[in-house]
Amino acid sequence: MENQIDTQMEQRKGRRLVLFPLPFQGHINPMLLLATILHSKGFSITIIHTNFNSLNPSNFPNFTFHSIPDGILESEASSKDVIALAKLLNTKCVEPFRDCMVKLLSDVSEEPISCLISDAFFYFTQAVADSLRLPRVVLRTGGLSSFVVFAAFPLLRERGYLPIHDSQLEEPVAELPPLKVKDLPVMDNVDPDLFNEIVDGMVNESKASSGIIWNSFEELEQSELDTLRQEFPNPIFPIGPFHKYYLASSSSSLLAQDQSSISWLDKQAPKSVIYASFGSLAALSEAQFLEIAWGLANSNQPFLWVVRSGLVRGSEWLEPLPSGFLETLNGRAHIIKWAPQLEVLAHPAVAAFWTHSGWNSTLESICEGVPMICMPCFTDQKVNAKYVSQVWKVGLQLENGSDRLEIERCIRRLMVEKEGEEIRDRISKLKDKAKFCLQQGGSSLQNLDSLVSHISKLES
Ligand code: UDP
Repeated sequence: MENQIDTQMEQRKGRRLVLFPLPFQGHINPMLLLATILHSKGFSITIIHTNFNSLNPSNFPNFTFHSIPDGILESEASSKDVIALAKLLNTKCVEPFRDCMVKLLSDVSEEPISCLISDAFFYFTQAVADSLRLPRVVLRTGGLSSFVVFAAFPLLRERGYLPIHDSQLEEPVAELPPLKVKDLPVMDNVDPDLFNEIVDGMVNESKASSGIIWNSFEELEQSELDTLRQEFPNPIFPIGPFHKYYLASSSSSLLAQDQSSISWLDKQAPKSVIYASFGSLAALSEAQFLEIAWGLANSNQPFLWVVRSGLVRGSEWLEPLPSGFLETLNGRAHIIKWAPQLEVLAHPAVAAFWTHSGWNSTLESICEGVPMICMPCFTDQKVNAKYVSQVWKVGLQLENGSDRLEIERCIRRLMVEKEGEEIRDRISKLKDKAKFCLQQGGSSLQNLDSLVSHISKLES
């Protein structure tokens, strides 16, 4: 048996995979973890990355890196409109990406390329891959549940749910229980036609690919997996949670992770701390930021809070906080610019995660059995939050955005009341399921074997 595995690894040693992450933190992390997983299966790895949010090759000495000139201007890169930026990336990267692929394909000194693995949001790569007769596999870095909703956008438009009208927010979406109209994964203040174009591009070109990989696991999203397997002609591989493969993997963090959070957590009582972080892209108004600050302060629990530079619109960092705010809390609060989130969530002092419900954060919290308080900001975060609070029932969702009294009440429900105990119990069972799927015979490991054999059969 072992000999057979060694021979298969040996055969794959002659094959190279080219991976192309979308240059945002929540997309880079899972793509680099996937690269590490596939490298452990014997494939050689080449990463193509944009100049914008470019990667640090020295963290990954086993991989080959190629940077492409994306032509993104400083003003475009610093824009808060991620949808406009996604469109620009899908337009400006076409030529440089194609040129880079042509060079890689014609380089006879390297192993032959089995396929391209691109982020689902780099949908332009399907046409490039087709023109080069190169198979393309997609990595969708979000959940299956939100993808089902994105895939239903044409139907939702036809039935009048989209575009959303304020008067319909509380209406159920009969086709997608338990979602209400307000949970649909849209984004405020962006061009709705452009948003539809990006979503449709992502879904349609995923459908046209040679397979879709998910950082999720069957036991978490079984019915959504069944739906997609019925509706999509191509194979689907939920092989997550990627970060729990325990392979030696380096950090792909774009920002420096402040280790003082761990020494501060070491001094806190077990299961006492609220960890609050809203990911790499979400932005808050000053009023929202202050409600959050007061909600945390009034909860009387210790809290570790990630306030990214630029999290508060119009501010550099903590300027909107009233003077003396931190001092009055007597060491009960620790505020940092960026955390080593995986270590924080695994720390015994952490009791709850107040999150914007990005998919990576959601999955990371489930894997550590940390119950969530969900405050989704846009797109798939809204669907994730609904699943956390109403399908898996492993967290609570703030209904009124950010209101200090609701925040205080929510924290109390989770930390003190019986409801919180039940939630903790459920997430600890889900954590076990996440663990089992990566044990011998587990669903994700089986799906990974299928993926590896699928990729090995693809021919360019
Ligand atoms: N993250 C981190 N430090 C932080 C906050 C986030 O390392 O202080 C990581 C987190 O572990 C996750 C990613 O950044 O892997 C954020 O991805 P997610 O999908 O949760 O949100 P996004 O940033 O895409 O909105």
